Amino acid sequence: MHYRIQTTKTQQFINITSKVADEVKKSNIRDGIAVIYVPHTTAGVTINENADPDVVRDMISMLDKTYPVLGEYLHLEGNSHAHIKASLMGSSCTVIIRDGKLMLGTWQGIYFCEFDGPRNREFYVKIISG
Ligand code: ZN
Repeated sequence: MHYRIQTTKTQQFINITSKVADEVKKSNIRDGIAVIYVPHTTAGVTINENADPDVVRDMISMLDKTYPVLGEYLHLEGNSHAHIKASLMGSSCTVIIRDGKLMLGTWQGIYFCEFDGPRNREFYVKIISG
């Protein structure tokens, strides 16, 4: 399934867990994997804590300290920091499905990671039986 998402900040983590869980439910697949894929070079996807929103805020702020928006980059577009952060998070995540449910830990959520927004973005969810 293809999803469109409108990000609203320059850097932002958006919890997309419920969209992936809905996709698993619709598929009727009991055992398999869910692949979440982000086709962008300045946005990514990661799994991390869903309980305390300060965790993702800390992740953004520490990524920003390590790879500041303004740095000694060569890339003329001026968004090298976003390319680096997107690669660190990765462009896909895989979650095991067992008994029709995502095997995420209690505190885990799936996040779309925007690093060069706000923009119209997209991601894909593929459910594979096995
Ligand atoms: Zn660029």
